[in-house]
Amino acid sequence: MRQDPTLLTQEQKEQHLLPLFNFLHQHHQQHCSEYQNIVAANEQQISATNVDALPFLAVRLFKQLKLSSIAPEDIFKVLQSSGTTSQTAAQVILDKDTSARQSKTLVNILQRTIGKQRLPMLIIDSPNIVKDPKFSARAAGIQGLAFFGRDHAYALDDNMQPNWPVIEAFCEKYHEQPVLIFGFTFMLWAYFIQALKQQNRQLDLSQAIVLHSGGWKKLEAQKVDNVTFKAAIKQRIGALKVHNFYGMAEQVGTIFVECSHGHLHAPLLADVIVRNPYDMSVCGIGEQGIIQVLSALPTSYPGFSLLTEDMGRVTQIDTCPCGHLGKTISIDGRLPKTEVRGCSDTQAGATV
Ligand SMILES: [Zn+2]
Repeated sequence: MRQDPTLLTQEQKEQHLLPLFNFLHQHHQQHCSEYQNIVAANEQQISATNVDALPFLAVRLFKQLKLSSIAPEDIFKVLQSSGTTSQTAAQVILDKDTSARQSKTLVNILQRTIGKQRLPMLIIDSPNIVKDPKFSARAAGIQGLAFFGRDHAYALDDNMQPNWPVIEAFCEKYHEQPVLIFGFTFMLWAYFIQALKQQNRQLDLSQAIVLHSGGWKKLEAQKVDNVTFKAAIKQRIGALKVHNFYGMAEQVGTIFVECSHGHLHAPLLADVIVRNPYDMSVCGIGEQGIIQVLSALPTSYPGFSLLTEDMGRVTQIDTCPCGHLGKTISIDGRLPKTEVRGCSDTQAGATV
């Protein structure tokens, strides 16, 4: 695809993606016996004629099974997903090709928002997080994003308190230029913005680009929505460019980044479908359902089409005022305690 990918209509995009998804469907049937068993049980061995006819796996299967489409000697790295304390972490098997494809795609997507230059970067976390195996998912997220910055400074100490000397030195040095700030949504709010508020401090980081991810669940409980979140950031550090992004360890690379109009856009090599939780039918624009994400990247594990545990809706198709075409989504939160059970009933077994 040589033309500007953001100018492909949804229909054009699907025409490009469908053969890639069908290829991945065949590829994983041939190389992953679990995947083959799951789709065979659902009688979906033939090529799909529509993106929404492709099979999908429940994302939690990656917590229950070691799903791999490569030989053990080709494993380059095993990515652990976050998972709360009560859950076991998912395991995502990567070979060098898939890992390289993920990195390249992430660079392409994020450079559209933050530009090609590596900016001085303030990370809203503790520097020791990257050394603690307990937090490997958080560390992987930080390390993935740290690639896009330089002169990294960690804003928090080991007790999750602001490290004021580090923050002040960073502001002193870079207050008159663009910088990158990254943090997980809740941490950015609770340990940085709220800490600034409590101390009645304001920082001059008006040219900062703020990236954050990781879900709104804890903030919803505090009645903090995206508008409130952005207003507080503007008030405390002066930054106007605040971009949420949606992504998961099971589909690294194809992240959905919030545009200047506040919408999460499906990236070039990915698609999204929202399904009715009761019968798995495809929801219309604006209708709430379970989010299914499709990514053209993973060949080392069968995760190209996943039913997430997130509720949300498709908000627009080809009509976002920012000018980027394709689908935009909103995330409404996690599914209430659900059981998307076992292997064979992953297609129809999502119950709410
Ligand atoms: Zn947009």
